[in-house]
Amino acid sequence: MIFEEEVLILKEVNYKENDKILHALSKSKGKIQLLSRGCKKNNSKLINVSQLFAYSKCILYKSKDMYIIDSAELVDNFYNIRNNIDAFLYANYILELVSYVAQENDLEYKIFYMTTEILRCLSQFNENFEKLTAAYELKLVSILGYKPDFYHCISCGAKIKSSAKFSIVEGGFYCFECEKNGSGINMDYNEIIVLQRILKSKFEDISSIEIITIKVLSLIRNYLFYHIGKDNFVTLKLL
Ligand SMILES: [Zn+2]
Repeated sequence: MIFEEEVLILKEVNYKENDKILHALSKSKGKIQLLSRGCKKNNSKLINVSQLFAYSKCILYKSKDMYIIDSAELVDNFYNIRNNIDAFLYANYILELVSYVAQENDLEYKIFYMTTEILRCLSQFNENFEKLTAAYELKLVSILGYKPDFYHCISCGAKIKSSAKFSIVEGGFYCFECEKNGSGINMDYNEIIVLQRILKSKFEDISSIEIITIKVLSLIRNYLFYHIGKDNFVTLKLL
């Protein structure tokens, strides 16, 4: 059976003389492996679509437990990521992260589009990589079913209007009045507003959030890692 699928290449592995096995994130099937035949030959039509970061529309067919690329059209290869070492390192971390998450879950197509979207931003912008990555982490954990509530107290339900204590386990704040009911990380009100804005903003608007403190960045990352159950990403050590 032959079918069309949008894919993003997460990893390329050389195979035989002229082929590659590609680990890819697909729009509708989560993480899949693709065999790209002859893609290492200079005249191959599959050269561009068979490289790390390539986002393409492929015609695939299945043979045993592997999908084989029949033909493909490149949508974007986010070329500029390779011209900026920071963009490259952050993009590699994004791929490692989504690769892990895709293995563990039935992937939502929203995650596929969100990942191509952040790669486009990392490729086009010259700065704000750390902010963009934090926004990706927060949106990712939310789509996975752990959307935090940054607006209401998890104990009494009151609107958060001042500094409060964030519980990573519960995914929300204890207001000033309820602090004694649970443990968490103290965040001042400005930081809480920043968290609300990051969750609401599109990637291209992240630069309008001027200051994202280390405390906010680390809260987001710790929250994600707690809920996906992994924190030892290899690419993170390079950042
Ligand atoms: Zn409360």
